[in-house]
Amino acid sequence: MYLENGTMDERVITVKDIEDVEGFIKSSIENMQGYLEDKDQNIAKGTGDFQVTSDEKACSRCNFVEVCKMAR
Ligand code: SF4
Repeated sequence: MYLENGTMDERVITVKDIEDVEGFIKSSIENMQGYLEDKDQNIAKGTGDFQVTSDEKACSRCNFVEVCKMAR
């Protein structure tokens, strides 16, 4: 339901839709864990293991810009 205008939109969610989302989530978790030195302790790898973007637009909207600039 859209709260702004009170209309409803019905969607049929299939088992494949759920499996696709689960696959996306698992892949995302694995990607993020790839940047950890120690998964159990949630310790990140060193700053040299992270690539910075050359897209200034992305940096202008980034929540980590201050930390990122200090690490460069
Ligand atoms: S400021 Fe944000 S978007 Fe830009 S390089 Fe750093 S982490 Fe990436």
